[in-house]
Amino acid sequence: MNRICKICGANFPARTNYKCCSDKCSKANERQRMKAWQTDNPERMNEIRRQFIERLTPGGG
Ligand SMILES: [Zn+2]
Repeated sequence: MNRICKICGANFPARTNYKCCSDKCSKANERQRMKAWQTDNPERMNEIRRQFIERLTPGGG
């Protein structure tokens, strides 16, 4: 049975439960999921960003 790659749309044999045809597409898929998560969790994303900036900013305040 063949499956269609979620990323590039290529047909590939579904030997495992991968959703993508190759490692490359699998990584692209992960990045997309990360982006989707960031869109779904804007508050959490803001907090992470703020903590990151606070670390970068020396002393101050
Ligand atoms: Zn693919």
